[in-house]
Amino acid sequence: MPNDSLQVNLNTKGTLQNSFDAIVIGSGISGGWAAKELCEHGLKTLVLERGRNVEHIKDYPTATKAPWEFKYRRQVSRAYEEANPLISKAAGFGDDTAHFFIKDADHPYVQEKPFDWIRGYQVGGKSLTWGRACQRWSPFEFTSPERLGYGMNWPIGYEDVAPWYSHVERFIGVCGNKDGIEAMPDGEFLPPFDLNCVESHIQKTIAQNYKSRYLVHARWAHLTQPKDIHLQQGRGKCQARNLCMRGCPFGGYFSTNSSTLPWAQKTGNLTVRPFSVVHSIIYDEQKNKAVGVRVIDANSHQATDYFSRIIFVNASALNSNLVLLNSTSHRFPNGLGNDSGVLGKYVCFHNYRAAVNAPMPGFEDKYYYGRNPTEPIIANYRNLHKQDTDYVGGFTTFMGAYRGQVSDDDCPETIGAQYKDAMSEPGHWHTYMYMQGETIPRAENHVRLHADQKDQWGIPLLVTSVGYDDNHEKMIKDFLAQSAEMLEKAGCKNIEQYDNKQAPGLDIHEMGGCRMGKDLKTSMLNEWNQLHHCKNVFVTDGACMTSTGNQSPSILYMALTARAANHAVEELKKGNL
Ligand SMILES: Cc1cc2nc3c(=O)[nH]c(=O)nc-3n(C[C@H](O)[C@H](O)[C@H](O)COP(=O)(O)OP(=O)(O)OC[C@H]3O[C@@H](n4cnc5c(N)ncnc54)[C@H](O)[C@@H]3O)c2cc1C
Repeated sequence: MPNDSLQVNLNTKGTLQNSFDAIVIGSGISGGWAAKELCEHGLKTLVLERGRNVEHIKDYPTATKAPWEFKYRRQVSRAYEEANPLISKAAGFGDDTAHFFIKDADHPYVQEKPFDWIRGYQVGGKSLTWGRACQRWSPFEFTSPERLGYGMNWPIGYEDVAPWYSHVERFIGVCGNKDGIEAMPDGEFLPPFDLNCVESHIQKTIAQNYKSRYLVHARWAHLTQPKDIHLQQGRGKCQARNLCMRGCPFGGYFSTNSSTLPWAQKTGNLTVRPFSVVHSIIYDEQKNKAVGVRVIDANSHQATDYFSRIIFVNASALNSNLVLLNSTSHRFPNGLGNDSGVLGKYVCFHNYRAAVNAPMPGFEDKYYYGRNPTEPIIANYRNLHKQDTDYVGGFTTFMGAYRGQVSDDDCPETIGAQYKDAMSEPGHWHTYMYMQGETIPRAENHVRLHADQKDQWGIPLLVTSVGYDDNHEKMIKDFLAQSAEMLEKAGCKNIEQYDNKQAPGLDIHEMGGCRMGKDLKTSMLNEWNQLHHCKNVFVTDGACMTSTGNQSPSILYMALTARAANHAVEELKKGNL
């Protein structure tokens, strides 16, 4: 068997010592939610995390540093950047945040087509560095792929997830306004951040000029007005410092480290094991179910097996695919639960290629108070009830307006008294819009295990074979034309449109490979995120996504995880798992 080639030194101190009710693979956004829910229901839960521990507050070394305390003013050295060409491309990466991202050389993979796989391997995963945008999916996103003929239907709909969205929103704290938009349903919101005068102006001109386009307040995981449940977590009000990605000592935004994991810890049911690289899930052919997980210690490279009644796979979309593909047995020679051959296929992402920006004249006598860690949103207005463009899918538009710094027009000097005077005045207003576009799940966009190459823990490297298609190009064209038109109607001149041509993956919203579905021949997971063919294994991170929608995905992973964990507990009580 493929795994027999692994050189293992098994720790055979008995299964009892290594036995738990539940194992969660990965401690990021979704793993933290699995741990919280399972521990609250009394399950002794082991969270296996490949990276180091990161303790809330204590392990945020740059959180309160001023710009001049960084050697290169937040930038990494040229040598660091040259050694890490992949990870240094990531949004928000810098000397102040680099410790929450991997180093390229430690974690190779094979790009059959260009794909930037951005990772953060530590307790808390990417919850420490995420952008925190938290819109709900609308009913359209669940149904559009099948209705408009570009994909498969989900086995669940909006109404199945809505209560779990509420459950998650109340706990993590999401700010926003109840806008009553069908393309972006309302949630349980804390008060939103204000729009500034230019954002309000563009909101008005969009409403005046378009029947069904809405610019609304951001929906973001920030505590604008903490409630009791947040104070109980030890979190406080967002200070709008805009230094979120360094880790927030106030717990002002949601991260696993400030919220779900400490909550789970308080139950007394949680064990977190950092430096535990999950190699594979162990399947018992007699019992017809998974019985545990094989772990390679990140430092000693020693293998240990852990056992449990249920397993949650939350290693983030592509790593969850990798673990499942590497979990081979006589029953499942092509990866756990992979009778259909679908595992690793239909990998998708979000299209972040296009943006517009422009100076905004006429507001020179106005300014704004304080910082704002969020961005207003224009809800998707494309292909909702029917296909109304020459492409399928929709896009969310993020936007913003700000006063810049002194420009060449204001002062051609770059030194001296004139420059100093110019610097003390605010610069011109600028505004921008950028897209987050739906992508079509395609079988040929896939990941697989490399036949020979392995990482330092003896695990096969992942091969990524994911690319753009013609639908993307058409959507980009439309986004650029529509966004430029909206800015023009708002009074902007000199509007720049650009396509950054970035590789898939840099959006950091990779999804799919182990999708949910009703049909056992075309999907891997049932409506409760259980593997069709191995029901005590639940996959509830981005790997489970049947389609991408156009909303930021992480709050859906959290809702699906909470929903699946509660189902797992019910099934355990009934003796079904
Ligand atoms: C800069 C940035 C901005 C973003 N902005 C947004 C946003 O605004 N809105 C949004 O919805 N999403 C956003 N995202 C994406 C979001 O971070 C991810 O969707 C989310 O973190 C995924 O959760 P997860 O639990 O699947 O994975 P992660 O949070 O990545 O956690 C996975 C964990 O599993 C561990 N792991 C991996 N492999 C193994 C293994 N073999 N064994 C043991 N442990 C393993 C990892 O170390 C990691 O800790 C952003 C991401 C970044 C980096």
